Amino acid sequence: MLKLDNHPSGRHFLHIPGPSPVPSRVLRSISYQTIDHRGPEFGQFGLKVLEGIQKIFKTKQPVMIYSASGTGAWEAALVNVLNPNDKVLFYETGQFANLWHALAKRLGIDVEVIGKVGHDTWRWGVDASVIEERLRKDTQHEIKAVCVVHNETSTGMTSNILAVRKAIDAAKHPALLLVDSVSGIGSADFEHDAWGADVTISGSQKGLMLPPGIGFNALSPKAIEVSKHNKIPKSYWAWDEILEMNKTGYWPTTPSTNLMYGLHESMDMMMNEGLNNIFARHQRLAQACRHAVAAWGLENQCQDPNAYSPVLTGVVVPDGMDADKLRKHALEKFNLSLGTGLGKLKGKMFRIGHLGDCNELSLMAALSGVEMSLGSMGYKPKESGVVAAQEFLK
Ligand SMILES: *Cc1c(COP(=O)(O)O)cnc(C)c1O
Repeated sequence: MLKLDNHPSGRHFLHIPGPSPVPSRVLRSISYQTIDHRGPEFGQFGLKVLEGIQKIFKTKQPVMIYSASGTGAWEAALVNVLNPNDKVLFYETGQFANLWHALAKRLGIDVEVIGKVGHDTWRWGVDASVIEERLRKDTQHEIKAVCVVHNETSTGMTSNILAVRKAIDAAKHPALLLVDSVSGIGSADFEHDAWGADVTISGSQKGLMLPPGIGFNALSPKAIEVSKHNKIPKSYWAWDEILEMNKTGYWPTTPSTNLMYGLHESMDMMMNEGLNNIFARHQRLAQACRHAVAAWGLENQCQDPNAYSPVLTGVVVPDGMDADKLRKHALEKFNLSLGTGLGKLKGKMFRIGHLGDCNELSLMAALSGVEMSLGSMGYKPKESGVVAAQEFLK
């Protein structure tokens, strides 16, 4: 069997920004027997799940549920609304924004990457005025879509999506707004309808507290209309057949039955806690984490106070320290898993996830593990981050 079975005593502290810890209630529901996905019971269940997920995205529009990771859902969004060679704007916020436009390029989309000039775009949230300015110049309406990441998981920045919608409208531009909220949904407030997103992409393994394996596309009436005429070849990702079959609670292909049991359970937990309470809990834990980082005398990767992420905090390590060595130490010595620096931030920072099934003491454990590991790396923190976070939380 897996070496994982031979785990050290006590719990594993999974503090990467996804996959996030899966609550035991959810794990238990996933272990229910698999049933016939074409049988009578499944249709009822499917309808309940489809209705529930709309509340999570705050939408009255259909939400596609794919057996896929978030990357599959990225691809699904693009292939349903774009044509080959279409020009698409991607706002750079970090590694996930980059991976998404790399995927778009492979599909033959004409990618234009934008960001605020004179700023390190990996440290500042989306500046909607940059998008507005670019769209105003596009008098021929060549740009077909604007793609932004709501919560950039590589840097720990949450951007204002409503501001992006307003920028597109102010420029009187017909481009679609495609939003990656893979790590935002369920942890940071997101309002698909009210914020005017045309497609919102998400995944199961972050704020929704599920294992990886489900990807989502929340749609808008405009996106559905555009999808009827678009030309990129697609089959598995095509919305039309799924939309049709979802009307009765079924899918054209076999859905991830057991993960959907888990989704049903996690949505029930989320509705019991209340979405606003969940978002407030995330904000509070994130703030506690930032107090710790400041006390250690370390920098937050995010330099933009308006974009501090409630989901994770990116911690820049001092010059000369290897963030991955610190992570290795935390894992081996304390069974604490921290997120690695992605892309150009490899070795320069680590990420503390405080999303999903996380509370004060799980965060305190993580901070304690980080503080001890910093000490083992020879770093003498300015003050105790653990004490600073405790002071804030008590
Ligand atoms: C995790 C994540 C993805 C990719 O999802 P996978 O499930 O790894 O394919 C995309 N975007 C963001 C912002 C993410 O956090």
